[in-house]
Amino acid sequence: MDSCIFCRIVRGEIPSSKVYEDEDVFAFLDIGPLAWGHVLVVPKKHVEEVAAMSPAEVSTLFAAVPKLAAAVMKATGAEGLNVLVNNGAVAGQAVAHLHVHLIPRRTGDGLGYRWNAKEYPEGELAAWHRRIIDAMK
Ligand code: AMP
Ligand code: ZN
Repeated sequence: MDSCIFCRIVRGEIPSSKVYEDEDVFAFLDIGPLAWGHVLVVPKKHVEEVAAMSPAEVSTLFAAVPKLAAAVMKATGAEGLNVLVNNGAVAGQAVAHLHVHLIPRRTGDGLGYRWNAKEYPEGELAAWHRRIIDAMK
């Protein structure tokens, strides 16, 4: 994609602080970090959302994650990481080139998001269970 900012970073047209690259995957520091050492991992091939990826593409992308996660933990001294994908604008995806966030976390860092867990009304869990299974057919 010509105008996609992450495609342009992968092609080297826009500078980035690259931390990893292989044939299919590119990783660099997020320029607007939620914590120091916040890294983005992207497929080199433009894809917008996870549902548009093949299992092999997902597998290749996530194959790079363990080593990067360990490096970010080591470099930052983080106690944990949020490994997350904002998938779709409504889910907070601002850049329409799929990317995995590695966000270093520490006790009391003040990060986090609303996790307003609900309880299924009577019978609804079974109904949603069926809907999701049917949607996979
Ligand atoms: P998201 O909201 O999940 O789409 O996240 C997009 C992320 O990309 C944000 O955290 C931005 O700070 C980051 N970002 C945008 N432009 C750049 C850039 N040129 N270099 C590095 N990170 C960027
Ligand atoms: Zn792209």
